[in-house]
Amino acid sequence: MFFDALDVQPGDGEALEADVCIVGAGAAGITMALQLIGSGYQVLLLEAGGRREEAQTQALYAGQVRDATLHPPPDRYRVRRFGGSTTLWGGRCIPFDPIDFEPRDWVPDSGWPIAFEQVQAYYPQANALCEAGRFAYTAAEAFVQPPAPLIAGFHSLDFDTGTLERFSRPTDFGARYAARLQAARNVRVLLHANVTTIDVGDDRTQVRAVQVRTLTGRQLQVRARCFVLAAGGLEVARLLLASRDVHPGGIGNAYDAVGRYYMCHLAGTIGTLAVNGPVSAVHHGYQRDADGVYCRRRLALTADSQRRLRVGNFIARLHHPRITDPAHRCGPLSLLYLAKPFIPYEYAKRLHGDGPVDARTWGAHLRNLAADLPGTAAFGWNLFTGRKLASRKFPSIIVHPKGNRFSLDFHAEQQPNRESRVTLSDTRDALGMPQLLVDWRHAPGDVQTVQTALAVLARDLRVRGVGRLDYDPDAVESEMLRYGAYGGHHIGTARMGTDPRRSVVDGDGRVHGMDNLYVAGAAVFPTSSQANPTLTIVALSLRLADQLRARLAEPAAAIPGRAREAA
Ligand SMILES: Cc1cc2nc3c(=O)[nH]c(=O)nc-3n(C[C@H](O)[C@H](O)[C@H](O)COP(=O)(O)OP(=O)(O)OC[C@H]3O[C@@H](n4cnc5c(N)ncnc54)[C@H](O)[C@@H]3O)c2cc1C
Repeated sequence: MFFDALDVQPGDGEALEADVCIVGAGAAGITMALQLIGSGYQVLLLEAGGRREEAQTQALYAGQVRDATLHPPPDRYRVRRFGGSTTLWGGRCIPFDPIDFEPRDWVPDSGWPIAFEQVQAYYPQANALCEAGRFAYTAAEAFVQPPAPLIAGFHSLDFDTGTLERFSRPTDFGARYAARLQAARNVRVLLHANVTTIDVGDDRTQVRAVQVRTLTGRQLQVRARCFVLAAGGLEVARLLLASRDVHPGGIGNAYDAVGRYYMCHLAGTIGTLAVNGPVSAVHHGYQRDADGVYCRRRLALTADSQRRLRVGNFIARLHHPRITDPAHRCGPLSLLYLAKPFIPYEYAKRLHGDGPVDARTWGAHLRNLAADLPGTAAFGWNLFTGRKLASRKFPSIIVHPKGNRFSLDFHAEQQPNRESRVTLSDTRDALGMPQLLVDWRHAPGDVQTVQTALAVLARDLRVRGVGRLDYDPDAVESEMLRYGAYGGHHIGTARMGTDPRRSVVDGDGRVHGMDNLYVAGAAVFPTSSQANPTLTIVALSLRLADQLRARLAEPAAAIPGRAREAA
């Protein structure tokens, strides 16, 4: 059932009760609620936004950044409405690799307190919820006929070209699963319910209630047996830090760990990769599996090579030349450049702020268009039908450049770094909550990962005689930082671990020192992998829902806080 906090009248009985209260209805919160359908437990899903985007609600995400060239404003790359940021995401699904879970002595603060297998068990179901088809992440598993090689003749011990990324429709979790939640007898979804504080009882270990406010001034209290913060990787830290009544430094923050170790990913487009031979020597685009799901291969640095080279996780894709530079002479790319005012900020960012925006540049792009009008028109039509009209959208622009001359698009792990953090600023939002101050930082080890991986790839291509990767090794760091932290991946601010001095939640997602408070989402990832986060967020949320189900079934005496309550 859905109801709306805006409709709650003063005196309606301002306290709501549930067994499980989930804060935030994005990928994590909706997944948990779905998994608890039919459990017999009353679930209340509190969502700050409504069914559509609303400017005033979105403004509650505003905040400050220490260096605006390194990180986007906090109200960009996340959406405060039912469905959360899945209303905007690109749908790229990739599981984490087993090595991501291992303690690696060359990656500070690496190692998860749970094994890869514990997450792996939930990946197939997570894949289904993301509508990314079968859980088959190698070309050998995904396709009946083996596809032509990514680059003909390229064999490398360092780079695997057989792994895949798969694409969701992309599924808007709000739109897709609203009817299922509406029909569930044990789930209530409360819209426009902004949680502003978490109330801790006198014993300091039990959350008694969360306080809810609306932008129209209504206030409510929600009491539950357990609470899950699923408000996104930045907002979880904000809620924990802003709840200071009993724990002066914020909840779970006895050792100043909340908001620290903040990671995104490091990405960029670099160099020229010239592949020898005809156009048919390269197959870098999308392939659809038997279910019609778009899949794409990439160059993935193997786990053995990461160990031997002592670097983090890294992948690269063959990419078209830089769109902003008209020297590519490609009509479709120039069309995209000229269309940038109509592309959402998050997707147009890489079309801005790079090279001069003057009449000459525009003229050169227009000439590119004119030189290939039929090709550009066909591309525009395919884009319109493949993205706007299709229910499973063509994921991104793929252009086969003339002469097999590509650039290289990389996506690399960011190491945990205690100095990279979010804190509360002195400015308050319209509900009186302190805004976030984001101080994202990268470390020398992050640069080393990309530098080393590129050098090894260039060597392997040369040794195999299949092509040449030319780039300026001294420009790697500036390329990694050209657009700053990768947007939309908010990782590590309430990381899992066994040591409360270096982590915020335990391996079950429960906040250290708290009995009934849990976190779901990328905030709990101790390391960031090369993979985009959402598939793993969904897998971990399924796991947490199953654990809560088991835990709630325990007799009250087995739960320390409840035993005290009963006494
Ligand atoms: C442009 C873009 C492209 C992306 N592409 C990809 C991709 O290709 N692959 C991938 O894996 N990931 C991608 N992502 C990231 C993906 O969207 C997120 O990983 C995912 O949505 C996170 O899910 P979540 O439930 O943790 O958080 P969210 O989806 O952010 O949901 C949090 C929910 O909590 C609600 N909320 C927040 N604060 C409160 C509060 N105080 N009280 C009540 N409710 C609250 C919000 O309104 C929201 O509904 C992309 C993101 C963006 C922005």
